[in-house]
Amino acid sequence: MVVVVQQNASEKEIEGIIRILHDFGFDVHRSTGVNQTVLGAIGVKPDFDTRQVEVLPGVAHAYRITEPYKLASRSFKQEKTVITFKNCEIGGDAVVVMAGPCSIENEQQIFSIAETVAKAGAKFLRGGAFKPRTSPYAFQGLGEEGLKMMRRAADEFGLLVISEAMDGTQLELMEKYSDIIQIGARNMQNYNFLRELGKSSKPVMLKRGLSGTFEEWLMSAEYILSGGNKQVIMCERGIRTFETATRNTMDISAIPVIHAKSHLPIIADPSHGIGIRDKVIPMARAAVAAGADGIIVEVHNDPDHAKSDGAQSLFPNQFEEMMRQLRMIAEAIGRKIA
Ligand code: PEP
Ligand code: MN
Repeated sequence: MVVVVQQNASEKEIEGIIRILHDFGFDVHRSTGVNQTVLGAIGVKPDFDTRQVEVLPGVAHAYRITEPYKLASRSFKQEKTVITFKNCEIGGDAVVVMAGPCSIENEQQIFSIAETVAKAGAKFLRGGAFKPRTSPYAFQGLGEEGLKMMRRAADEFGLLVISEAMDGTQLELMEKYSDIIQIGARNMQNYNFLRELGKSSKPVMLKRGLSGTFEEWLMSAEYILSGGNKQVIMCERGIRTFETATRNTMDISAIPVIHAKSHLPIIADPSHGIGIRDKVIPMARAAVAAGADGIIVEVHNDPDHAKSDGAQSLFPNQFEEMMRQLRMIAEAIGRKIA
């Protein structure tokens, strides 16, 4: 931590700050300039609250210089995490595409969409059986029945399954039917649940919370990693800002920033990121150009009658067009679509 002392601080105040830093267990290195004194406080204290120093008399600012997360950080593990599946890798050279409806609705719907996305080159079938809806009166998902249908549809067309669990009671079903467990934006800081995911044998895709900072999001990943599950994938899905013209603000900057801060792969979700069908493809292109390890996108055979998120779901022909464009973007940056 770097402690910047106020310009008018007295020598007595400075000595007081140094004494308290020692009491906290830091080694202190003092640099005294003409107008400014700066204290370097050295010591590994991931959970130290810098405000405890900031409130001391004579302190102008206190800055943390190390990250509060460890297992998720690049400094802990330099090489990228690569998660291996039977038909692809996530975090390797190729960009993986996951596609499917927001919710699994019925057999005909999920089989039709699975066929479309598999033929166009997706590797994962997405679809929710447990839906986090703003309204308790809205469609909540088909539960286990939906998972069974999706598993069969995915197997039929050579796809893997990604689906959301909303709490620990659903993990047993996820272990049974899903290849990746999706954790929704609203659960990013459900710490008890994140701890349980640390014990899961399945990879976890952790969506960014609506107002999650990069640090908070990586701290959430740290919960899963520290519980023993090393297969964590980050997913940028848009954040809440002052803008109202789009559903969320798709934060493309998350992709290079997370890659710099962490070894974990990052997937982009342009469907929830922008929330408007005709703007999903440009955001998917931008995400691949920015270095995303994958794209997760909503596709529906009949979006106008979808039970959830129809307005942001691509038509089958739009998904095919998106894949065509993403292949070109991937090639332009020396990657390919898995
Ligand atoms: C979803 O993927 O359909 C979903 C509900 O996502 P999020 O948690 O990002 O809102
Ligand atoms: Mn959705």
